Amino acid sequence: MTQPRGKRFPLALSDVMTKGTAPGAAARRPQPLRSAAPASVVRAAESVARAAAVGLASRPQPLGGAGAANGAGAAHEGLMNRMVERLRTAGIRDELVLDALRAVPRHGFVDSALGAQAYEDAALPIGQQQTISKPSVVARMLALASGGRRIGRALEIGTGCGYQAAVLSHLADDVYSVERLKWLHERAKRNLRPLRRVNIRLHYGDGHLGLPIAAPFDAIVIAAAALDVPTALIEQLAVGGRLVAPVGEHVQHLILVEKTSAAHWRETLLDPVNFVPMKFGVS
Ligand code: SAH
Repeated sequence: MTQPRGKRFPLALSDVMTKGTAPGAAARRPQPLRSAAPASVVRAAESVARAAAVGLASRPQPLGGAGAANGAGAAHEGLMNRMVERLRTAGIRDELVLDALRAVPRHGFVDSALGAQAYEDAALPIGQQQTISKPSVVARMLALASGGRRIGRALEIGTGCGYQAAVLSHLADDVYSVERLKWLHERAKRNLRPLRRVNIRLHYGDGHLGLPIAAPFDAIVIAAAALDVPTALIEQLAVGGRLVAPVGEHVQHLILVEKTSAAHWRETLLDPVNFVPMKFGVS
């Protein structure tokens, strides 16, 4: 990018455009992540550890019985409809995204002990000190990534428990999702199996590298925060494609990257958010 990264945050909290240059043009390099987790993440990790100690977290659970194979039972449908109506009231108006959220039973992606909270607008622990994103954040990111239209090929970085990939699979023809933690990669597979979404492919690996074998992507959604968007991911975005990611460390914001040509992209800094950090390597 043409602008030093440090200047971006003071400049703009919304709708400020900065111009990118070709990823190969020495302008943009992946930034090393600082190793220390932000205090909020440490706090989240601590509360997950406490939850695990009383048996709330970490134990993989099969999807609940109610209509697990193809959606939700009547009780869960009511909860899902109410969740979607609350999101609509909160300002999310993208009908494609709201329909996609309505199609995925969120309780199937958290431990059964947390099932009662599954339709609240809250991030919940999914084990390994990671969290399932809030429905409002998933909705916002997918609305930005889709731009109000159906997506052809989508890439998600940070599968976690698989919830966002499932929602995305109702908006996109093909979904690829990469997770760096084997335990969560396996858990997501188990969570997704009963939904029979044949257009989702899960990969175990470091999302900093993207998924060159399946590129280019019309949309890329990153579910963990880095200091800057990894170069490989901008390279793997199709011209006309849209990438959404949280960037920053202690203070994070969503960033929308729109690829305008093979060598140019536009960045828009948006809402403040709070994501787990994007880490290097696999584990
Ligand atoms: N998409 C999930 C949220 C996952 S939380 C949802 O539906 O709610 C973020 C996930 O990103 C974690 O599972 C974490 O392990 C993963 N992650 C962090 N760094 C990563 C990387 N470099 N590559 C792939 N996944 C990564």
